[in-house]
Amino acid sequence: MKKLYSVSLIIALFAGLVLHSCETPEPEVERPDYVLVIHGGAGTISPDVITPEEEEEYKNKLDEALEAGEKILKNGGSSMEAVAAAIMVMEDSPLFNAGKGAVFTNQLRCELDASIMEGSELDAGAVAGVTDIKNPIQGAISVMENSPHVMLAGSGASVFAEEEGLELVDNEYFHTDHRLEDVKEAIEEAEEDNGGTVGAAALDMDGNLAAGTSTGGMTNKKYGRIGDSPIIGAGTYANNESCAVSATGHGEYFIRHTVTSDISARMLYKGDTFEEAANYVINEKLKNVGATGGVIGVDKDGNVAMPFNTPGMYRGFVKSTGEKEISIFDEE
Ligand code: ASP
Repeated sequence: MKKLYSVSLIIALFAGLVLHSCETPEPEVERPDYVLVIHGGAGTISPDVITPEEEEEYKNKLDEALEAGEKILKNGGSSMEAVAAAIMVMEDSPLFNAGKGAVFTNQLRCELDASIMEGSELDAGAVAGVTDIKNPIQGAISVMENSPHVMLAGSGASVFAEEEGLELVDNEYFHTDHRLEDVKEAIEEAEEDNGGTVGAAALDMDGNLAAGTSTGGMTNKKYGRIGDSPIIGAGTYANNESCAVSATGHGEYFIRHTVTSDISARMLYKGDTFEEAANYVINEKLKNVGATGGVIGVDKDGNVAMPFNTPGMYRGFVKSTGEKEISIFDEE
């Protein structure tokens, strides 16, 4: 009996060994030290509307935004600081619909929205419908860091920004001729257009995620209209347990479908990868209801996703591993 017992033990051990050696070990992909991913909107762009020179100009500006954020991450700075630096480069450029170069409302002025969120404490800040804060993303950061609130709107946000020592400008500072032409055309045709938006998401060396978004909203929007960009869970979301995401597209749909928090929730509750979750929300859920736009983001392990259901989306990412991409259309 004792002998039989030892033989079966040996067989069991051997079988275990064979089984173990047959299992293909999961390839260990190391998390990059840092990742930065940005977008400059998924508005009305298509390869036949944009000239090669314009394409070059956009790509150079996206590169400048990536470099501004990467410099911070490389030196051990926070994902929040990197997100803000990248967004400010795009807010200061007339090319994008945020800060200077924002689209006009139906009353021919610029009303701007922005938000920021960090993933360790789920802290967040936002400004909505502001008309004079030069860099709305800084307004959002101030609300998050120095007020007990998550969102301040309109004139109250301006008073707060002034108290915070942020730069205020006349509304004319944001105006550009091409956006004025766009809104006049849109008024004539009684249309509203996705104007684009800018955003960034980052993972820093401490494993903290952050995301931010800034926009002028939709061309020919009604006075006082607030889009998804300053709304946490719609235009911006970050959670160290899942991902950091910034959205661009038809804001009303993005609010109703809580796009960025839905992506995080699918990862947390359903076990989707970041790519699966982001793709599903943009290319199935939103597409099926006729909502145009896209998202960019990074997950807690440094994986990047940038899906969009429009002809193009200005976008790019850089990782500590040296991987880098800047693109506009699908085929790149
Ligand atoms: N999401 C922005 C808004 O609805 C517009 C855009 O991203 O194109 O305000």
